[in-house]
Amino acid sequence: MQNLPAQSTGPSTGSTVSLVNSAIEIHELNHYFGHGNLKKQVLYSINLSIQAGEIVLLTGPSGSGKTTLLTLLGGLRSAQEGSLKLLGREMRGANTKELLKIRCNIGYIFQAHNLLSFLTARQNVRLSLELHDRYTDAECDRLVDEMLVAVGLGDRLNYYPEELSGGQKQRVAIARALVSSPQIILADEPTAALDKKSGRDVVEIIQQLAKERHCTILLVTHDNRILDIADRLLYMEDGRLVSDRSE
Ligand code: ADP
Ligand code: MG
Repeated sequence: MQNLPAQSTGPSTGSTVSLVNSAIEIHELNHYFGHGNLKKQVLYSINLSIQAGEIVLLTGPSGSGKTTLLTLLGGLRSAQEGSLKLLGREMRGANTKELLKIRCNIGYIFQAHNLLSFLTARQNVRLSLELHDRYTDAECDRLVDEMLVAVGLGDRLNYYPEELSGGQKQRVAIARALVSSPQIILADEPTAALDKKSGRDVVEIIQQLAKERHCTILLVTHDNRILDIADRLLYMEDGRLVSDRSE
């Protein structure tokens, strides 16, 4: 594995939230899906504090609420009840504009790579930088190529997703999530579709980044083979956080 590029030194803008020790701070968070008779609670009284730079793995049976929690943390949906602070900002009741703003500080890696099939590796990664208005075109080009080299795809810059293996596609997805130097990385079962070796490579790239850039990582996984990368292991069951232990 190659070294990741150093954190961008580009000009910072108002969209970058100042450094605070607690990257994620959750207090008595509840979440519900549906309305009226169909209203169903899926998260119950979640309390959780994650410090900047921590690597936290979240496990638990299917349906226990892991993805729901992650999407709330990613600003992909708005928190309804309790308190959820990301980088010091309260997200409960956040409107679309506030959610968009916080998302600039978060890199999201999904189970399926979700790459756009008609764009090359380079173009897919570049797309996520275009959400930020703080880089010039030349800076974007440089950051994209450095990031793809860092995940070991320097020789695949102009390949389309269908020309890449599963592990390579997931590495493009990592590059896409990381290229803008987010302070928090959320990964939802990123190794689920990969063989053992590719899965390991993928988490090691994520882990290395966390260390080099003091990035906070919350990674959902069923994969027992990667638990050793964690500073801390969380376990969820039936919408509750039932165990939280340091490794
Ligand atoms: P996990 O990721 O641990 O498998 P999820 O967060 O996906 O769990 O799901 C938790 C619960 O919420 C499940 O009972 C699931 O059926 C329900 N759920 C998830 N997403 C939705 C949704 N968009 N609408 C209604 N129910 C949902
Ligand atoms: Mg899930």
